[in-house]
Amino acid sequence: MKLRANKLINIKKLRNKFDSSSLRVRLTVGMALFSAIGLGSLAIWTGMRMQHILIVTHKENIKYIAERFPQDVKIYTEMATLPVATQKAIDNLASADKLLWVKTNSGQVTALAADLEKDGIGEILLPLNNVPPIPQVRDLNGSYWLMCATPLKVDDKYLGDLFIAQDITKDQVMFLNLMRSLSIATFIMIVVMTLTIAHYINYLIRPLKRISQLTENVSADKLSEAHIHLENAPSEVRELADTFDEMLVRLSEAWEHQRELLSNVSHELRTPLTIISGYLQSTLRRGDNLTEIQKEALTTASSEADRTVQLLQDLLDLARADSGRMHFQLESVILNDLIEEVVGMTKQYSNHQINIELPHQLVQVKADANRLKQVLLNLIDNAVKYSDEEQAINIKVQQQQQQTIIQVCDRGMGIPLQQQNRIFERFYRVDEARNRSGGTGLGLSIVKTLVEGMGGSISVRSQIGEGTTFAVKLLSI
Ligand code: ADP
Repeated sequence: MKLRANKLINIKKLRNKFDSSSLRVRLTVGMALFSAIGLGSLAIWTGMRMQHILIVTHKENIKYIAERFPQDVKIYTEMATLPVATQKAIDNLASADKLLWVKTNSGQVTALAADLEKDGIGEILLPLNNVPPIPQVRDLNGSYWLMCATPLKVDDKYLGDLFIAQDITKDQVMFLNLMRSLSIATFIMIVVMTLTIAHYINYLIRPLKRISQLTENVSADKLSEAHIHLENAPSEVRELADTFDEMLVRLSEAWEHQRELLSNVSHELRTPLTIISGYLQSTLRRGDNLTEIQKEALTTASSEADRTVQLLQDLLDLARADSGRMHFQLESVILNDLIEEVVGMTKQYSNHQINIELPHQLVQVKADANRLKQVLLNLIDNAVKYSDEEQAINIKVQQQQQQTIIQVCDRGMGIPLQQQNRIFERFYRVDEARNRSGGTGLGLSIVKTLVEGMGGSISVRSQIGEGTTFAVKLLSI
């Protein structure tokens, strides 16, 4: 059961951690996106600049050669024939990594750089067609070539297409390697920045979490003691904590007023109602000439008056406990006698069989005898109310080291697991529909207040359809 609860808490924590509506996740995602866009843009810009430095200069160079080539041919035609002049111009402009050739529309190469005949480069480059006039990078068998082809016209005479190819493998490989390193570095930086941002945001919102932890433990009874104190928190969060503190003071005052009002009203109403109940009972006792209907009406009115007096008494008890005005006369109480007495009292109004299991020797506890009677009467009263008449009620007393445990067990309807820790709350009733008797929902909260006031504790164990066991632990003497 504990394992399951821990698992549930872990799942809740995990869900909170990745809750898309949380300030932490939103800030982290927002800042991470912002930095990713920033770093990404910087990487793209750097890449473009590098490409410009490494490739664009070559492109411009090739464009310049393509523009200048017809003029060079023309100059050479003054001393040689057109084919010879073309070849001379090619020889003049070509180098080991810059190759030129002229090809007619029919695919015949009329002039070419000498290097095209070496190492089989010509076999790869010369057959190429559909080369664009603007220089473009081509990957040819693992080496990169910047290529373009423009129509060659000298004195308006078309001589074929001039092909220019420059080997840029070294620069292109360097550029690609640089781009790869840049992408990896950018990715690592984005991851590191996201983690750093997430950590920093976590640190920043810690005071907010602290406020929520502190306010989570504030209960109505502890309003006056509650105080939210934060050290080293940002001024905005400290302001929020101060506002919370002021609100707690106002709530505490309002709660105190309400308690006083409740206590006064209960006190004022209890006396006249007790008198009314007394009159109703004496009228009933002496009313020999009353009709059946009148008797029934008076009985109902009397029991309702009693119930309301009991409710007012409970409210007064709780108000006294809340304001610390409930006093306990703690002394040594012999449980054997007290339990016998309580069971005797219960038998006056219930037909349930009540079994008592007591150790043979005398069991003494530190308690207030009257309050302890009230506790046991309440628990047995509940066992009677929430189980059938033919089902016996067992009262067991066990001694464990310094403690004595009094168990009140019934074989009644039981209490659902998820509501077992709520039944001690004021006015909490498991299910109005199943509560045949008109309780008020205050009984167990008074029981808990009284037991804790005597330095003890109370717990419940119950299973639907099987029954319920309340265990009261008190200090042994
Ligand atoms: P009530 O006046 O309604 O009995 P209590 O504070 O005594 O108020 O009990 C709170 C709720 O707990 C009850 O409404 C009832 O549903 C449940 N309860 C208490 N004791 C038992 C029991 N022995 N068996 C089953 N349910 C119980």
